[in-house]
Amino acid sequence: MTLTRTQVRELLDRHGIHPKRSLGQNFVVEPNTVRRIAELAGVGPGDRVVEIGPGVGSLTLALADTGASVTAVEIDEALVGVLAEVMAGPGAGRDVRIVHADAMEVDWDSVLYAGPGGGDLGDGNWTLVANLPYNVSVPLVCDLLDDVPAIGKMVVMVQKEVAERLVAGPGDDAYGLPSVKVAYHAVGRLVGRVPPSVFLPRPNVDSALVEVVRRPVPAVDADPGRLFALVRAGFGQRRKMLRRSLAGLVDEAAIVAAGVDPTERAEQLGLAQWAALAEAPGPVGATS
Ligand code: SAM
Repeated sequence: MTLTRTQVRELLDRHGIHPKRSLGQNFVVEPNTVRRIAELAGVGPGDRVVEIGPGVGSLTLALADTGASVTAVEIDEALVGVLAEVMAGPGAGRDVRIVHADAMEVDWDSVLYAGPGGGDLGDGNWTLVANLPYNVSVPLVCDLLDDVPAIGKMVVMVQKEVAERLVAGPGDDAYGLPSVKVAYHAVGRLVGRVPPSVFLPRPNVDSALVEVVRRPVPAVDADPGRLFALVRAGFGQRRKMLRRSLAGLVDEAAIVAAGVDPTERAEQLGLAQWAALAEAPGPVGATS
């Protein structure tokens, strides 16, 4: 079971809650959409799911219905109360744990470690399934890829433009640091589009679903600190040629020695070329 538009309206009204734009509160009020997301996640009994931003619980209910154990991390205290009420409602026996915390700040080890399965925090054992708050969706996906190897797969709903940035490749307009970060750690792909009509309140933008499956090891063998310092510098001045945007980090001669054309721009380089640049010596005295 999950929540209809009428039920979400009733819950918000009864609890005197006005959706906060600052927290990206657009609630899904279309049962087929949340069922589709749960299906795409491919989770079921015995699986451990972490949801960021459960809101009033539309997606949480659909995830719990699969039989998976769900840990839901919500920042808004008022919604935590509503969520607890919804989870205790009809259709008991759900395995849902509610954590009141800011997903950008929380200590993920302790959230996941304290969850079902306890000490078994093995890499890749958790699936993140979420309709992410739009204002933090990119840093959240990138930080979780960097820092939380326990999350092996993500199925996330984000703004369409964000989805395009996460899965873009060299030469695409949307290609940037988040695309390189996803490609480094994982394989990302667009798995669906979602119209504004399924949300309350209705956003002004289209949304999309992205699947991100973590690789067993990163796609290239380069020092990630150096690699992403270069990627950041390159995309920081994406219209400039690499010999300018990477000045101070890699000499022009070293760019050539790495097999990269110094007149190219960041948006043209694939991950293997970024890795080759990361292996190149920096100018004398430079730090990465
Ligand atoms: N999952 C619900 C749904 O699909 O109807 C709500 C999704 S709504 C787009 C985003 C949710 O994320 C809101 O409940 C909001 O309060 C919560 N949120 C925003 N920033 C957060 C953060 N930093 N940590 C945890 N939750 C956050």
